[in-house]
Formats: sequence, C-alpha cells, structure tokens
Amino acid sequence: MSLSEKIFEAGVVGAGGAGFPAHIKAKSNVEFVLANGAECEPLIQKDYELMLHFPKEISKGLELLLRSTSAKKGFFGIKEKNEKAISAISRHLNGKTELTKLGDIYPSGDEFELVYEAIGRLIPPAGIPLNVGCVVNNVETLYNIALAENNVPVTKKFICVAGAVKNPSSFFVPVGTSFKDVIEFAGGAKVKEFGIFIGGVMMGRLTFDLDEPVTKTTAGIIVLPKEHYLIKRKNQPEQNWHRIGKSACDQCSYCTELCPRYLLGYQVEPHKVMRSLGFTKSGAAVWNQMAELCCSCGLCTLYACPEDLYPKEACDKAKVEMKEAGIKFIQQKPVKIHPIKEGRRVPLKQLIMKLKLQDYDVEAPFTSRNISVRKVRIPLQQHIGKSAQAIVKKGELVEEGQMIGKIPEGELGANIHASIKGKVEAVTEKFILIES
Ligand code: SF4
Ligand code: SF4
Repeated sequence: MSLSEKIFEAGVVGAGGAGFPAHIKAKSNVEFVLANGAECEPLIQKDYELMLHFPKEISKGLELLLRSTSAKKGFFGIKEKNEKAISAISRHLNGKTELTKLGDIYPSGDEFELVYEAIGRLIPPAGIPLNVGCVVNNVETLYNIALAENNVPVTKKFICVAGAVKNPSSFFVPVGTSFKDVIEFAGGAKVKEFGIFIGGVMMGRLTFDLDEPVTKTTAGIIVLPKEHYLIKRKNQPEQNWHRIGKSACDQCSYCTELCPRYLLGYQVEPHKVMRSLGFTKSGAAVWNQMAELCCSCGLCTLYACPEDLYPKEACDKAKVEMKEAGIKFIQQKPVKIHPIKEGRRVPLKQLIMKLKLQDYDVEAPFTSRNISVRKVRIPLQQHIGKSAQAIVKKGELVEEGQMIGKIPEGELGANIHASIKGKVEAVTEKFILIES
C-alpha cells in the first residue's frame, strides 16, 4: 500500500483545524513540504507540547511526506521563542529540512504567512500552497501520518485545555469524548458559569454545550467565565453585530490597515465591507467583495477596531452570501507586500492583553495520564468533503481502532474509527455513539 493509501485508510485529516483529508497532499508532486508548528492562537499550546514530547514521530511524518511527494526540501515553521521544542525537533530532522524560525506574532500560523516566510513565495489570491509548489501540514497531522505508516488509525486527538480550569494541560483524548469529560480531566472549571471557545478565541467557535464531542480537528478548548469580555462580545446576537456596525463605523479603516492579508498584498479591505452595511436597507443585501480573500483571523474585530465592531463577522457573512449568489471576486492588482507590513504585525503578548486574557496566560504542560472515558459520540463528518457512511449497526461490539465509518469510493473525505472498545448504542446520520 502507498503512503497515501495508508493515510486514507487511517482517516488522517488536517489536525490544525482545517480538516482537509491528508492523503490528497501525500499523493501530490511538489517542490517543498512545510511543517506548521507556528501555533499562534492565544493560550493554546498543544503543538508546542507535541513537538517537545513527540519530535521523532513528527519528523518521521515529515520525512515520509518528503519522499511521497518527491519534494526537494522541507521547511519546519516554528516560533523562535520555543527553544526547547526547536532543540527537540532539530535532533530528528534530516539534512533535507531547514528550520524557519518565526516571531511571536499573530497569525504566524496562517498558511499564506508561513509559505511566504519559508520560501518567499506569495500564494495567488484565493489559491492554495500547491499553486506555489508546496504542501503545508500541521505538526499533529505529521504525527498521525507517522502512525498511519504503521497502520495505526486516528482514534485520539491531542488537545490543550486552558483558561479558567484548575489544571491547564495538554493531553490525548479519544475522538468523541465530551467537553464535560475533558474539562473535568483538566481539574474542572474554576467558575460555575462559563463558555467554551473551541479551537481558540480568535478563530474558534463559542459554545455552552458540554455534551459536544472532541473531533479530529479540535485543537484546544478555552474555558472562560460567562462574564468575560470575550464571551460577552461573541455572544451578541448576529443582527446586533451588523446593526451596531451600520451606525457606529466611522470608516477609520484601522481594520484594513492592520489586516494581515491586506499587509501581504491581497485585496482584503474590511472597512469597505463595513461600508456595505450602510449602503443597504437591511445592511446585508449587497456585500462588498473585499471580503473574499479574508482568512477570518479575527484581528480586525478583536484587536484593530477602536469601536469594538464586528468587521470579521461582516466579512464571514459576506463570503457566505456572495458564494450563494455565485459572485466570485478576482483580484486585479498584483500581490505585493505592503511596505510597512513588518511594523504593523501584532505581537501575541500584546494581543493577549487586549483580549484581557493575561490572567490565563500560563503553561499547559503535557500529561501522559490516561483519561478514562465510558462514552464517545463520534461525528461522521469531521473533515472537508463527504460525510463518512456508518458501517456498523446498533448493538454491535467494536474494538478500538476498528473502522466504523467509510468514505464512498472516489469521494473526498476521511474514514472514521472507533476510539474506544465497546457497544454501539446509536447510529444516526450524523454520529455513532459507543459505550464501554
Ligand atoms: S476599524 Fe472599526 S470603526 Fe474603523 S473602519 Fe473598521 S470597523 Fe469601522
Ligand atoms: S478577519 Fe479581518 S483582519 Fe483577519 S483576514 Fe479577515 S478582514 Fe483581515
């Protein structure tokens, strides 16, 4: 079996949050393979901990990809401040791979930023790294690729639990474990009423549902008190975001001036998207196409805007509605780095202060203790592409690692495996419930 076939069988997807099926990248032909260890979401440290404790597996995954894609060189993107992880990784890299040391900047983990930092090429507007001869993989994806080579499927997720919990930490959990179990494993919440940011406060989603399961793309869980600034800000009804924006945006354009994609030379101009709110009666009928190339990093909403408005959310909505309307924006100007890009980059520490997170900015070390989980709810769609189809029935006994969801022949997607040994208690269109 080729590496790509093994990765497909094992159900490996982009573990950094995107969920793109990894076997596709493994069968491409590229000049460079990039490992993404930049990790820039405030408080999340799972990639750092993984690089520190599993450098051999990560480097092995990178080496396998270098071979399968016939790449001539590898680059390992890692923050300069993470000296211990740099030294752990360096011991295992072969001569084909070079370290790309990054500043402690948000969002240094964005693929467009990382590709530019590593190989000096700018991905074409709305393009992908493949367009400039490379593939980028998060370090946990590389770890999973190394396991897949030995026919070990993805049944566990490495996550960081941080914020208002008693023991902020990073650990492996079976896919499908509830947030409730995960938070308890991290010592429990420090406060009675809290919200959870899944995947980070900048690009993640807010939930109050403790029964939600960890998936193959859950990078981190940030627990914050219900009265925290970020929870209140995110928990506003959507119509308020746009209603307030329509009356309060003074077009100062700070959101654009600090936008990382704009500074890279892409035509992303959130202040013009905000202007659209004022042009229409509802504030949503006609959106400005300057949203199309936005990567939803959240800096405009949570850092740049002096009025606490929601330009990122306006861009998100605009992208969805323009897609539905079949409108595609094509950048006319050549992509050219802004002359003072470097001067406008946002240090992570500064961002953490702005987000009022400094009290939670502590280490979240790796713990090898095993979490005991009696019940998992495993979603059939944890990736980009088609949903997997259940291949087990209610009442069936399954072993850990057994395939329980399969991708139909020829479709894009990732297979799903049982993450604990037990009995299948329910099979729906959306998930499979297993109890031990
Ligand atoms: S920074 Fe805020 S007030 Fe200024 S243009 Fe952007 S959305 Fe409007
Ligand atoms: S979220 Fe805002 S700052 Fe980030 S890329 Fe989009 S427009 Fe730019």
